Amino acid sequence: MNKPVILTGLRVNNDLHIGNYFGALKPIIDMTKDHSEKYQVNLFIPDLHSFTTPINHTELQTQIVSTLRAFIAAGLPLGSHDVYLYRQSYIPAHSELTWILSCFTGFGEFGRMAEFKDKSGRLGVDHIGVGQFVYPALQAADILLYNAQYIPVGEDQRQHIEYARNIAERMNNKFGEQLFNLPSSMEEMYKFFNRKQGLRIRDLVDPTKKMSKSGDSSRGAIFLSDRPEDAAKKIMSATTDSLEDIQYDYDTRPGISNLLDILKILGGDASSFIGQKQYGLLKTAVAEAVSIFLSDFQSKLEQVDDGAIAAKLTVSEKAMNVVANNTLLKVQRAVGLRSTKET
Ligand code: AMP
Repeated sequence: MNKPVILTGLRVNNDLHIGNYFGALKPIIDMTKDHSEKYQVNLFIPDLHSFTTPINHTELQTQIVSTLRAFIAAGLPLGSHDVYLYRQSYIPAHSELTWILSCFTGFGEFGRMAEFKDKSGRLGVDHIGVGQFVYPALQAADILLYNAQYIPVGEDQRQHIEYARNIAERMNNKFGEQLFNLPSSMEEMYKFFNRKQGLRIRDLVDPTKKMSKSGDSSRGAIFLSDRPEDAAKKIMSATTDSLEDIQYDYDTRPGISNLLDILKILGGDASSFIGQKQYGLLKTAVAEAVSIFLSDFQSKLEQVDDGAIAAKLTVSEKAMNVVANNTLLKVQRAVGLRSTKET
């Protein structure tokens, strides 16, 4: 188990749309397939993170299951021995290390995190949980317990990655031993993942916004659970423009450009529509491609073997508990919680 570790969280979401599929699920799966020979890939459900903001707790279990099923239907290679799939809360060392790291972190250090400042600024500090405040420590624990090197995150997570590097270095220096390996810097990670500008699928009704589950109406998003014929109707009534012909330009033609992009990611020949005057032909082609994609995804979803997911979780959680507890014991010894003789 000495391969470098790539680590990524699979966020729980019951209402996945094609933006999530092509912007999150598929890139994670492609990354897993591309790297799983030379690297160990840790994919985990950050269930402890899920209530840093309010959620419906009675739905959490079904959401975890449906998120895992969606990843499998989208092609996650369950059989790969380099891939570990686990739930954060099934490895108690995450919570324990979070507490220890928090005690070595300044109040101001967490208070300066942009995400915390943004949320507490908007909602007020009395309406935001302490979990939101300390969650960079949980994220650092997620990374440091496994000595993860690469974490595919966007620029919005830069401060949190820097915190994970800083706290690892601080603990190593304070206790005079190599408790943790430092994860790579954001620059090194960008280079490693060769990240291009992230894909953003737009809302079908208001193409100036990104497609999201909280859009003004459900007509703006194609959900993975939509019936193919309903999804086709959404495409046919998508907002476009009344300019002369089909051109790709997000500044002046966001609706039509979005349809061209959707067609392209679904494997269609978008370029053949450039310059054409009949928008209806493009819409029909996109509607057809979307219907085929959904039918295919939904039939794969029906075939997902829940037993295989459960078995993978059991094996991975057992293995990851061993790794995480090893790291935790080193830390517990360093801070004086365990005698150095204990194993
Ligand atoms: P959310 O639950 O909306 O935060 O989405 C989770 C992830 O899905 C995001 O971090 C993005 O990577 C991806 N995603 C969400 N919406 C879109 C979209 N409209 N286009 C592309 N990717 C998206």
